[in-house]
Amino acid sequence: MSVPAQHGLLRVVLPVPLRREFDYLCPLPLPAKGCRVTVPFGNRTLVALVLAHPEHSDVPPARLKTVTAVLDRRPILAEAELHLLAWAARYYLHAPGEVYFQALPTLLRKGEAACYRSMDYWHLLDPNTEAPAQAIKQRQALLLLRQGPLTAGELDARGISGAVLQAMARKQLIEKKEQLPDHIDWRALMGIAQEDKPRLGTEQALAVSLLHRAAGFSPFLLEGITGSGKTEVYLQAMEPVLQAGNQVLVLVPEIGLTPQTIARFQRRFRVPVSTLHSGMSERERLDAWLACRDGSTAVVIGTRSALLTPFQRLGLIIIDEEHDTSFKQQDGFRYHARDMALLRAQQLNIPIILGSATPSFESLHNAAAGKYRLLTLSQRPGTATVARHQLLDSKHVQLHAGLSPQLIQLMTQELADGNQVMLFLNRRGYAPALLCHDCGWLADCERCDAHYTWHKHRGRLHCHHCDHQRPVPPRCPHCGSDQLLGTGLGTEQVEQALAGLFPQYATIRIDRDNTRRKGSFQQHLEGIRAGKYQILIGTQMLAKGHHFPDVTLVAMLDVDGALFASDFRATERFAQLYIQVAGRAGRASKPGRVVLQTHHPDHALLQDLANQGYRHFARGALQERQAALLPPFSFQALFRVQATKAHYCQDFLQQLAGQLSPGLPPAVLCIGPMSAQMERKAGQYRYQLLLQASSRRELASTCRQALALIESLPAARKVRWSLDIDPVEI
Ligand code: ADP
Ligand code: ZN
Ligand code: ZN
Repeated sequence: MSVPAQHGLLRVVLPVPLRREFDYLCPLPLPAKGCRVTVPFGNRTLVALVLAHPEHSDVPPARLKTVTAVLDRRPILAEAELHLLAWAARYYLHAPGEVYFQALPTLLRKGEAACYRSMDYWHLLDPNTEAPAQAIKQRQALLLLRQGPLTAGELDARGISGAVLQAMARKQLIEKKEQLPDHIDWRALMGIAQEDKPRLGTEQALAVSLLHRAAGFSPFLLEGITGSGKTEVYLQAMEPVLQAGNQVLVLVPEIGLTPQTIARFQRRFRVPVSTLHSGMSERERLDAWLACRDGSTAVVIGTRSALLTPFQRLGLIIIDEEHDTSFKQQDGFRYHARDMALLRAQQLNIPIILGSATPSFESLHNAAAGKYRLLTLSQRPGTATVARHQLLDSKHVQLHAGLSPQLIQLMTQELADGNQVMLFLNRRGYAPALLCHDCGWLADCERCDAHYTWHKHRGRLHCHHCDHQRPVPPRCPHCGSDQLLGTGLGTEQVEQALAGLFPQYATIRIDRDNTRRKGSFQQHLEGIRAGKYQILIGTQMLAKGHHFPDVTLVAMLDVDGALFASDFRATERFAQLYIQVAGRAGRASKPGRVVLQTHHPDHALLQDLANQGYRHFARGALQERQAALLPPFSFQALFRVQATKAHYCQDFLQQLAGQLSPGLPPAVLCIGPMSAQMERKAGQYRYQLLLQASSRRELASTCRQALALIESLPAARKVRWSLDIDPVEI
C-alpha cells in the first residue's frame, strides 16, 4: 500500500500554464470534487481545485507531497460545471488549471471563503416602539424597519440619513448588527409587468410561440434587423422559464451592458437581476457569482466570462449580438463564449437563443445546415421605417476635415429640421500619424510596427497597440523643422472642425478618450437622448445597441481601409459594423438616411450592402468561403509565437512545421510560418503557423501531436507560444 495511513490521494488542477493535472496526499476525510485545497508547489503554496480521488498515482509515493489545508467544506463548483470545464480544456487543448481557475472569481482564486460579505444592518429593538409624531424621518425609518433589517445604504436610498439613524440609536430605538444579506425567494414574488408588454408583431409572435414550445436542447438563431424588437422576444421567451422557477443567463457584448438594459429586465419581471462584468469590484463579482450559484438571483446579464458561472437551475441562455468578437477571449484561455454556451445548453438540455441583426457566418451556416432553428424579424414595430442608404463618392471632392460638401449640406438640412446627426469614424485621437512636412519623418512607436496617434488636445503621441505615450516633440528629431502635421483623420479632429462648421449646434464626441471617467459614457448617452447635443461623432462605442430616436442621418466618414484588408474575415466584420451603424438611423417614427463616404462607390461589397442588405451579402460571401474552403467550411487552429528576436520565432515554427508535415493527414493543411499582421508589437516579434482541416477530429489530433512535439523542441525555450483553436483573428 503506497498511501500512508489516514491519508488518501487527490487529483487537482493548479493555476499554472502546464497541460496536466497533479496528485497530492491528503489526510482523511478527503474533500469532495469541486472543493479547494492549498498545496505546496515548488517553493510556493498554491490554491488547487480537487477534480478526482484516484486509487493510485504514477508519482512514486516518496515524491508525493501533502495538501496543506482544505479550504471548502462543500464543493464550490457542481458536477455540471466541472464537466463543462473539463470539456473546454480538452476542446481548446489548454492547460486545465487555467481553464478551471478562469471560471472562479478572483477572490476564490486567492483562497477567500466562498461566502457572502456580512454587512451592518439596522434592526428595531422593539417592534412596538413609536417615534414622536413630530420626528417624521424617524417614523418613516421605523415603518421601513418593521418589514425587516436594512443597511445604512438601503435606508439612505429611501431618504433616511445616517444622522437620523444615529439619533435613533442614541434613543435605543434601533441597533446595528452585522449579518449576511437576506436572500428572499424570488420565485414566490415574481410577477410580469403586463402594462409594459407591447402587442407583438406577427413575426415576433411567431418567434415567441416557437420559443415557448421549445423543450430540451434547442438552439435558435434570431435574426432581426436593428430595432425589430429582439429584446422584446427575449423577454417574452423568458416568461415561462422564470415562472417555472428557473434562471436565465443573458450574455451581452462588452459594450452592451447598460443600465437601461438591466432596468428593462428588472421592470418586466420584478425579480433579482444580477450583472457580471469586468467593471465590478472583486467583492461584487464574488457576491453575484454566489447569488447565481445559489439560485438567489433569477436573471444574470453578463459579458463573456459570465458563461463560466455556476447556476443552480439554469433554464435558458440568450446571447445578444452573437456575432460580436468580444465573446472570444483573446489571451490566456482563448475560448469563445458563444460556442461554449451552445455546449452548456446541450449538457443541461435547455434552449439557447443567439440573436443578432448581423449573424456570424458560423451561425448562418449552422442555421442553413438545420442545426439551428432560424427565427426572422424583418420589420420594425409600429411606424418606424428602415433607413435609406446612399453612397457618396469622395473622389475629386474637396473634403473639409473628412466631410464632403454634399454631406455638409445633408447635415445642414437635417439639423435645421431639428433632428440629430451621427458621424461615425473608427479612429480616435486627432490624427493617426504625425508627419514632418519638410523631410517626411513619421513619428513611429519604437516598440511596434505602427505610427503613433497624435492626440492634439492632450499634446501627446499615443501608440494604440502597446499603449506607449510620449509628449509631442516641438521639432522634427530628424531635420529640426517645426512643420509637424497630422496626416489622416481622427474623431478629435472632426469634433474640432464641426465646432467651426456648425457653431450653432452642440457636438458630443464618444470614444474611449472621453469616456474614461466612470459613469461619463452613461452621462453622454443620456445627454444625447435628452437632446442636449445635435451632432454626435464617435467610434464604434457609439454604434452598438443604443436607441437615439432623433437621429435621422448617419454618416460613415471613411470606410475605404476596411475594403482592402487582408484578413478573410474583414469583410464580414465591416458588413456587421456597417449594419450596426446604419441601424442607428431613424429608429422612431422619423425616416432615416445612411450615408457612406468612399472613394470606391462601385465596390461590390458596398453596392451589395447598400442595395441588398446583410442577408444577401452574407449568402454571397459564404459561397466564396465555401469555394476557398475557409471557415465555417473548414476548421482552423493557430500556433502563435512571440519572442524578442524574429529568428527565434521563425526557427521554432520551422522546426515544428518540419516535424509535423511528413505525417500530416491529407485532410490537414499546414500554412506558414508567417509573420503576424503586425510583426512587432510592444517590443516582441510575432509569428504564427496555421493548421486548417476539413475535419475537426483530424485537426485536434494534429494539434495534440504538435503539442507533444513542442515538448522536445529546444527552440521552444526561447519563445512564448500559445495555441488558438477556432481563431477569429489571424
Ligand atoms: P432590438 O433589440 O431588435 O434592437 P428592441 O427589442 O430593443 O429591438 O425594440 C426596439 C424598440 O421597439 C424598443 O423601444 C421596444 O420597446 C419597441 N418594441 C419592440 N417590440 C414592439 C412591439 N411589438 N410593439 C411596439 N413596440 C415594440
Ligand atoms: Zn523633418
Ligand atoms: Zn507601440
